[in-house]
Amino acid sequence: MDLELLNSTLAAHGQPAFRRSQVWRWAAGGAHHYDEMTNLPAKLRAQLSEHVPFSTLVLEHEATASDGTVKALFRTHDGRPVESVLMRYRDGRRSVCVSSQSGCPLTCTFCATGKMKFGRNLTAAEILDQVLHFRRIEPLNHLVFMGMGEPLMNLDNVLAAARKLPDVGITHRRTGISTVGWVPGIRALTEADMPVRLALSLHAPEDELRSRIMPINDRFKIAEVLDACEEYYEKRRRKVFVEYVMLAGVNDGPEQAAQLASLLDPRMYKVNLIPYNPTDSVYDGSSRNAIATFQSALEVQGIDATVRLTRGRDIDAACGQLAAKSPVAAEVG
Ligand code: SAH
Repeated sequence: MDLELLNSTLAAHGQPAFRRSQVWRWAAGGAHHYDEMTNLPAKLRAQLSEHVPFSTLVLEHEATASDGTVKALFRTHDGRPVESVLMRYRDGRRSVCVSSQSGCPLTCTFCATGKMKFGRNLTAAEILDQVLHFRRIEPLNHLVFMGMGEPLMNLDNVLAAARKLPDVGITHRRTGISTVGWVPGIRALTEADMPVRLALSLHAPEDELRSRIMPINDRFKIAEVLDACEEYYEKRRRKVFVEYVMLAGVNDGPEQAAQLASLLDPRMYKVNLIPYNPTDSVYDGSSRNAIATFQSALEVQGIDATVRLTRGRDIDAACGQLAAKSPVAAEVG
């Protein structure tokens, strides 16, 4: 819901300011349409239905994976595809993974989103509407900006959306922003007044390899990115999660584990190893064994390392697989 449009529409209809929070409270609580907002006069509900679309996004396709993960494909008013994922865990965690851009301008070689055409930054309302969609299905408690796009290239809208999340049930401490290492964005996030978690997609322990698999590294080298992350840690006192996608024979060897360990101060970083999810790339995922060996090598050096649970792979909803290529998208697009 475009809250600015809501505001101006309420003002144009001579409504008192408290109506805005009334409407927002319903929307943030999972209402499906204005008719549910029983504390608003019927006439006003009709006016709002006419002038303020309940969502800035139109749902085009939705799929549920065998593990309960839900992937939604939306279109913006100008026809841009946006994908989001709801992950459900046995311990009750309900985590939404949202997109910050339609497509992505960075071209990480292992990621499906990097292969599609970049559209544009999403507005704060378009980001929030992904969350509200899933809130209408069930209560939510975690969120990650790990869908399509680079959130730190759209930081103002990302933060504007994040500011509203506690109303939806997701605290800032349970909100994470993942970046390829967009240094100006990391610095801006460090200064921002919001205790969200930072995750860094590192994926290689040295510049030559990182540049080969992530072209962004030609612009911001590992040392500069880690410096920015360390400033973030100094100021925020929250560990940075290093994401590391495991590519067989590329970045998963024992020397690379040792190199990675030597880069990272265990007080500041935690490593999250990501099993590679198939995209149309040249890579193969590391074996379970290779991942376990890499993990132990980090732990021996005192670095806390976990292996990410893969969710939604059978519906192309897992990390790196968002590329708006559902059957419906193909027909439309
Ligand atoms: N642009 C931001 C936000 C996207 S997060 C970033 O890159 O951090 C998506 C995460 O999935 C990133 O860590 C990304 O590197 C990872 N990823 C991309 N392709 C993948 C793949 N094929 N398998 C597993 N993880 C992948």
